[in-house]
Amino acid sequence: MSDDEARSLADATRVVQAGRRDEWTGGVVNTPVWRASTILYDSVEHLRDAGARDTHHRLFYGRRGTPTQWALADALTSLEPGAEATFLYPSGVAAIAAALLSVLSPGDELLLVDSAYDPTRSMALGLLKRMGITTRFYEPLIGADIAELIGDQTRAILLESPGSLTFEVQDVPAITAVARARGVVTLLDNTWATPLLFPAIRHGIDLSILACTKYIVGHSDAMLGSVTAAPAHWAKLRDTSFALGQVAAPDDCWLGSRGLRTMAIRLARHGASALVLARWLQDRPEVAEVLHPALPGSPGHAQFVRDFTGASGLFAFTFAGGTDAQRIAFVDALELFGIGYSWGGYESLALPIDPERHRTATRREHAGPMVRLQVGLEDVSDLLADIERALLAWRHAG
Ligand SMILES: *Cc1c(COP(=O)(O)O)cnc(C)c1O
Repeated sequence: MSDDEARSLADATRVVQAGRRDEWTGGVVNTPVWRASTILYDSVEHLRDAGARDTHHRLFYGRRGTPTQWALADALTSLEPGAEATFLYPSGVAAIAAALLSVLSPGDELLLVDSAYDPTRSMALGLLKRMGITTRFYEPLIGADIAELIGDQTRAILLESPGSLTFEVQDVPAITAVARARGVVTLLDNTWATPLLFPAIRHGIDLSILACTKYIVGHSDAMLGSVTAAPAHWAKLRDTSFALGQVAAPDDCWLGSRGLRTMAIRLARHGASALVLARWLQDRPEVAEVLHPALPGSPGHAQFVRDFTGASGLFAFTFAGGTDAQRIAFVDALELFGIGYSWGGYESLALPIDPERHRTATRREHAGPMVRLQVGLEDVSDLLADIERALLAWRHAG
């Protein structure tokens, strides 16, 4: 068995086993949905006792969770070697907000990757700015040169790798090494890779963030987020999240746990199909550039090969010129790719994107309009035929 095979076997096994404790499942396979606000005590003494002690994994009040939430949080922690614990949130954006607020105070500066998810940018330029926290955007391929941007006020660096829309892979070990030496906290939005393709804490990240809405849930039917913390950062994250009143709904956590069981095989299929389509698109005359970390020439490809154990199913491409109307004709002509936000579900999606609108640190030239594809679990030859048909529509609209 090759290393790759052994690794994928281990992942598939880990996602099946993770978080399933007998005392939470009660003997059935899946941890049931424990819905609760009030927890009843049999005496005032026990009520006081429960409130006075650390309530970790003990029923106390609904906001502190039930076994349904603990099972998913524990499972996600177990996928990140070196992690202390995980807090769950009602969305990925809520997870990003709690992670940033657990680290930043008025007067601090945040270094934010220029290719970040747009709502993360908006949060920095709106909410954080209003709280007296400044943000400096940096080029995603900066690597160890991030040291030159770190000043006295710099408190945290937020990474997202690969970048939303443009898919630059960052040199995470180089950035975390510099950050650690300077006492700066690192946060990574790891939604694209998940801990299976990129174990973030092991690569030096302090707070690893997931929009579980995507691959963890995996079926486009629930919103969920998580932050997994390295030991030194857990207490702050937990206390901040408690103070913010954050609690993910037990029904949504149940969907998250259910999705997780098949995540390893889903990711493998998403990744394999996306690579087939990416390579095919690369050879098409209608296409100028395919932005997929596993393709040589894609920005940060060397870091991808060094640090990742595989690719997931989201990438983008640029048309070789053409108009916005042609791009719209292409997306509208697709039948198996739905038109919509989000990704990570079993179904394919296409989205027109304009990444340069959201950048300020460094700009990139693109030959034409761009489209992002989320490659689902359909048969890849059907997807390919669908794209081929839609490219004809692109030509006719020109
Ligand atoms: C979708 C997404 C989020 C936000 O997750 P929600 O659950 O939709 O709030 C954060 N980061 C990335 C990279 C995403 O794609």
